[in-house]
Amino acid sequence: MKLDDILSSIRNNGGRITKVRRAILEAFYQSGCLVSQEKIVAYLATKELTPNPSTIFRELQFLLKSKIITKSTINKVHHYELNSNHRHYHFVCSKCQGITALHLHNPLISIMKELEQQHQFKIQQHSIDFKGICISCS
Ligand SMILES: [Zn+2]
Ligand SMILES: [Zn+2]
Repeated sequence: MKLDDILSSIRNNGGRITKVRRAILEAFYQSGCLVSQEKIVAYLATKELTPNPSTIFRELQFLLKSKIITKSTINKVHHYELNSNHRHYHFVCSKCQGITALHLHNPLISIMKELEQQHQFKIQQHSIDFKGICISCS
């Protein structure tokens, strides 16, 4: 999904596109992977936007409820990612907390499809993170 598609789906559902809302979505597109609230705040600052934390929190809740983003908690920090690019996985380093996107979606997606058929179960959500030590920490 492109940013414009997301913006128009928000509008179609009666939502407003505020500057902050648009910039938060831009932060997700720029990253292409998991983003913490801290990183969102830093991105907004580059756009000279300094909403208070409760505004950002409310925006994230709105985007979660609209199923535009998903939340994962990594090393006790909440991270958010666009639902539409959540077809990848992550290596998470337990020393530096570094996150590397892992694009091996095809094999896992096809395993899930197989499992759905075998068990007549519709998977709506799953979460897998590979935790370990990255090359610069080892
Ligand atoms: Zn990611
Ligand atoms: Zn590391």
